[in-house]
Amino acid sequence: RNCLMWFRTDLRIKDNIALYQASSFLNTSTDNYLFALYVISPEEWKSHDVAPARVDFWFRNLKELKKRLSELNIPLIIQTVDLARNVPASVIELCEKLNVSHVFANIEYEVDEMRRDNRLLNMARKNSISVQFLHSQCIVEPGMILTKEGKTYTIYTPFKNSWIKFVESNISLLDLVSDPVGNSDKILELYPETFEFNIPDSIPGFDLDVSSTCIQTNFPAGEPEAHRRLGQFVANKIGRYNEARDVLSRNGSSSLSPYIASGIISARQCVLKAYLANRKKLSRGNIGIAKWIEEIVWREFYRHILVGFPHVCKNQPFKLHMSNIRWNENEEYFRRWCQGKTGYPIVDAGMRQLNGSGWMHNRARMIVAMFLVKDLLIDWRKGEKYFMNHLIDGDFANNNGGWQWCASTGSDAQPYFRIFNPTSQSQKCDPNGDYIRKWVPELKNLSSLDIHDPFKSLPRSEFKKLGYPEPIVDHAVMRVETLNRFRHVKR
Ligand code: FAD
Repeated sequence: RNCLMWFRTDLRIKDNIALYQASSFLNTSTDNYLFALYVISPEEWKSHDVAPARVDFWFRNLKELKKRLSELNIPLIIQTVDLARNVPASVIELCEKLNVSHVFANIEYEVDEMRRDNRLLNMARKNSISVQFLHSQCIVEPGMILTKEGKTYTIYTPFKNSWIKFVESNISLLDLVSDPVGNSDKILELYPETFEFNIPDSIPGFDLDVSSTCIQTNFPAGEPEAHRRLGQFVANKIGRYNEARDVLSRNGSSSLSPYIASGIISARQCVLKAYLANRKKLSRGNIGIAKWIEEIVWREFYRHILVGFPHVCKNQPFKLHMSNIRWNENEEYFRRWCQGKTGYPIVDAGMRQLNGSGWMHNRARMIVAMFLVKDLLIDWRKGEKYFMNHLIDGDFANNNGGWQWCASTGSDAQPYFRIFNPTSQSQKCDPNGDYIRKWVPELKNLSSLDIHDPFKSLPRSEFKKLGYPEPIVDHAVMRVETLNRFRHVKR
């Protein structure tokens, strides 16, 4: 009987627990084979607002994965399943066809994905197929660290302290999993047809906009590329991460998010590299390294939240009473925000970076999100959805966590009365205006003094010549309105 490795958001060979388990399971008998599967599920992707940039990134990475798997004589089978609910049945059908008795996969923690996997488990049981789901997305799997009361942490700092203590005292959590063992050549004769699957360049409904082809240049595919980035970042930038991360015009962060979100590289591989560079310290030591590790811990925090509070996967705020906030239904304002035409240069630069490159700087994400929620009073879920539909690194836990943090509806969120002033954020995080100049060409000739708020800084006649919109709202007025709405939200 054979084995099947079902790849999902873990498109890598190295440090892949499920893949390793699947391959070592076979080692005991040479007449058994390991097959790999990837399911193209357009309906599911549509319902989860997967961005075309992400699908394009997956397909490019799948091609790389397929090459590396074929060096190990492991065929990568591609199945397209139109209806999400049919995915488990199609996996079972494939198992029957290939005489597979054991399926391995890494767990995805979102509610719909867990439901899909539970359905697979039930169907498999009836067909005498064993299925093993393994924890691979986090270094510390959800449930392993809890508060004194035995509950999921809802505040980041105690979570982080506990996470660091736990990993320090179980340092083998940073040991990488061995590489998988391949199949013997015989599989090529016995199952030649399984090597014939092609990975499409794109699929209907997820076509990459021609204007955003820079996405492919900015984020080349493959595990070696992810490790090259990590290596360069750790060698050259991580030491200054602490100060550089908030400067919008500087590439001070790792830009690894698409690779981490699609599992081209694991969180463990990232943290291990940083830990070693920090002379085997997770906290303290080099301040830049310690800060960067903390960001990966934020990622783990949001995953633990998904598992502990699954209602966040169901379009509900973490703090349930926050569903009572009265939002503005202003389609025109929302459209202007999406297009980067709000008249607030820093907000527009962020949105245009997203639209033009499929990625956005973290500080810009915070500024535009806060602006949508607290200057336009538009429901954060609309922004969350727009981000997912455009981000190459779209990741439900991080995106939902980030949006709820900005909207003050989440676990350990910003208090509602903390409202970014977009102009002072701009002066602080883009002091020379270089980020704005890059993404908002109408303003490229303005001085670093005028660029942050040209409507106020320039004479009206000069402003008109720019061809740049006037601010759609007055920040000071909206701030008061927002405080009022949030203060009076009914519990
Ligand atoms: P680095 O600064 O180099 O950090 C390394 C890694 O740590 C990142 O790749 C990411 O995996 C993780 N990380 C960093 N910051 C955070 C954070 N605040 N929360 C959770 N994990 C973090 N990140 C996504 O991966 N996908 C998303 O869809 C996403 N949506 C966001 C939406 C909003 C409104 C906000 C405020 C943040 C969002 N983030 C998201 C988090 C963060 O903005 C990105 O992870 C980061 O900008 C990616 O750049 P980087 O890889 O250079 O990060």
